Amino acid sequence: MALPTAQPCPVCTSELVTLKINVDGHDLIMCSCQTCDTRTWELAGEDINLEAALDHVGTHAGRRRRAGV
Ligand SMILES: [Zn+2]
Repeated sequence: MALPTAQPCPVCTSELVTLKINVDGHDLIMCSCQTCDTRTWELAGEDINLEAALDHVGTHAGRRRRAGV
């Protein structure tokens, strides 16, 4: 399975770190910038907001986890 192509950060243009999580058969993707700490989320190829993403993860896992440090 190929990883998504690294995207540039929309804020500082550094390379984003992409983390892909499968939630109930949907691909939840977090793009995180290590330079400016910007994070974007996508679900099934569409941008979603962070609260919606956490809601999906929380529902699936039964608890919340902090992404990154
Ligand atoms: Zn950035």
